[in-house]
Amino acid sequence: MYAAIGDTGRGSEGRPNAGFVVTRAGVVVIDALASPQQGEQLARAIRGVTRQPIKWLVLTHHHPDHHFGAVVFRRLGAKVIAHPDRRVLASEGGEDALMADWVRVVGLDAMRGFEFADVPDRAVTSTDTLTLGGDRLIISHPGSAHSAGDLMVWLPDRKILFAGDLLVEDGVTMVVDGNSRVLLRALTLIDSLRPVVVVPGHGAIPRQTSELVARTRSYITDLQANMKSALERGIPMKRALQSLPPADPTRPVSLSSRKRRNAVRVYLEEERAYMGLDSAP
Ligand SMILES: [Zn+2]
Repeated sequence: MYAAIGDTGRGSEGRPNAGFVVTRAGVVVIDALASPQQGEQLARAIRGVTRQPIKWLVLTHHHPDHHFGAVVFRRLGAKVIAHPDRRVLASEGGEDALMADWVRVVGLDAMRGFEFADVPDRAVTSTDTLTLGGDRLIISHPGSAHSAGDLMVWLPDRKILFAGDLLVEDGVTMVVDGNSRVLLRALTLIDSLRPVVVVPGHGAIPRQTSELVARTRSYITDLQANMKSALERGIPMKRALQSLPPADPTRPVSLSSRKRRNAVRVYLEEERAYMGLDSAP
């Protein structure tokens, strides 16, 4: 089992993490990184430790930084396991616009040879166990916590969890594509697994998994409480957000942007709940 760690200390703005499991019957890759160039780097790293064929690519979700390298693994013969719901906020303007935006992030060079390759060959909407060469990987959908198509990958025999972006190193998980209440449920699930190692979507592997989970939980519950109390006092969203730093205009996932954008999302969630429009999904 290998983890390919991207950048640390940069929160969600850093290059994402990935990983792979070498079994006696082939390799399972978890996430494909942010471009064909990064996907090729990961493929070379895999080739550096094994000649086994790459059989499967599991995508933890459909944000560009986690699957835009997927075509590399498809061309090497891997089949894709993913949640079938590929909708993300960033693709509302269509896939061409999403690609053009992403070129601005990673550069044209890194995108050479790009094709969308995240439509699953094997779709997972609840729980699926992949067995390869005697190794078991439990792939499950924890609900739409970070995004509609979230999946976690759990290796029960080694107690290792690939959490995707449900966890990021600084505890400020984005919920603008997901839902904060669903995220809290997913965090409870992660705790109940008692993982020995958790690979977050971005940043360093935490020394103490439970500490990162607790930090994420308290960030979310504090935000929910603040927005709920603002609503109950009739404070409009704009004023409820006043104490937060402004979002960085050119950095949609900087720490300030994540805090601000999450607050908007959670205010709207609490507003719907307050008006009795929904309970937790
Ligand atoms: Zn993401």
